[in-house]
Amino acid sequence: ATARNAGGGGMNVAGLRADFPALHQEIHGKPLVYLDNAATTHKPRAVLDALDRFHRRDNSNVHRGVHTLSQRATDSYEGARQQIAQFLGGQTDEIVFVRGATEAINLVANAFLRPRLQPGDEVLVTAMEHHANIVPWQLACDATGAQLRVAPMSQAGELLLDELEALLTDRTKLLALTHVSNALGTVNPVAQIAEMAHAHGVPVLVDGAQAVQHMPVDVTQLGVDFYALSGHKLYGPTGIGVLWARSEHLEAMAPWQGGGDMIRSVTFEKTEFAPPPLRFEAGTPHIAGAIGLGAAVEYLSGIGLEAIAAHESDLLAAATDAVAAIDGVRLIGTAAQKASVLSFVVEGVHPHDIGTVLDRNGIAVRTGHHCAQPVMAFYGVPATVRASFALYNYRAEIEPLCTALHEAQDLFA
Ligand code: PMP
Repeated sequence: ATARNAGGGGMNVAGLRADFPALHQEIHGKPLVYLDNAATTHKPRAVLDALDRFHRRDNSNVHRGVHTLSQRATDSYEGARQQIAQFLGGQTDEIVFVRGATEAINLVANAFLRPRLQPGDEVLVTAMEHHANIVPWQLACDATGAQLRVAPMSQAGELLLDELEALLTDRTKLLALTHVSNALGTVNPVAQIAEMAHAHGVPVLVDGAQAVQHMPVDVTQLGVDFYALSGHKLYGPTGIGVLWARSEHLEAMAPWQGGGDMIRSVTFEKTEFAPPPLRFEAGTPHIAGAIGLGAAVEYLSGIGLEAIAAHESDLLAAATDAVAAIDGVRLIGTAAQKASVLSFVVEGVHPHDIGTVLDRNGIAVRTGHHCAQPVMAFYGVPATVRASFALYNYRAEIEPLCTALHEAQDLFA
């Protein structure tokens, strides 16, 4: 393709935007500028069509029937597992379908970590985690007498690696960290940190909810143990997500939830469990969701994650320059390596008031604590405004954002 649309990476953004029906609407009489992609992304036609096709034609339960529809549903569901394994660089039977990153982390907390925790043990997280990567570990610690430790970060929002390493001891049973911070945009050097943790014998869970949509991710190259993601932030449906885990861990894990589909045989005396990944997929799964997510990763692979990363990095740089130039703006999160998140506060104007003025201008951003209250506490702010970019955003959306920010200042500051 030769067409360029004001972005790095040579992506034809105008062409790609046509794939996303929800982008083409007016909000309060203004064209929608959707900058809340870290909360959830819009869905391309390829995903909508896959969902529709499943429900209209193949709808049936998986793994049970010998009839044609059930076989089609099973083939599509298991086909999606293969697509996602390929997308992440893992093995197909290392892909567990769950509801989202939250459920993936809770699964590891309950099925992997909790049985291994003794009083006095430690679980290490970082200062920039989403509540989904804090609370499940806290629950496991509270139930077992273990302790949660926190690796610190700098004012820029970068992990302090020496201090992190000093917290890795023989008491540490797991390190859980985010790949990309949803509140700050920081991209953590996950491969380097995983190597460090493994040198101390500590397994590593990575929360990839904000990473997989922005850059090529290969779990094998990263060398981590667990990787969690949410489908809806990856251009797929809500209610579906993935836990990738090394097969040796999955093999060693007892089930978390019991029910149909996760067993080999059941009597009232004893149940034999199915091998992974089905051992961790009790009950009827979100079949359509998995198929939709398969379509999403195929769509993204067709564009290329490298191209998406280049385009979004160009956009983030331009938006950062433009917003930082506004008087009274303080950026929250200024790490050298960032992905697609521009978090800030404006002196004298509450983030929610900014959000309201922006919405009246058709601009969707997130305002609040972003489920990262410890990050807000670290910076001494109750909330931030967060603009977050996706493959379909483009430079022409930056100017309306800045104009609306000036309007909010005129009204409230
Ligand atoms: N981790 C991070 C970094 C996130 O941004 C989010 C979603 N805001 C989650 C975990 C949780 O994702 P979900 O609500 O889809 O389970």
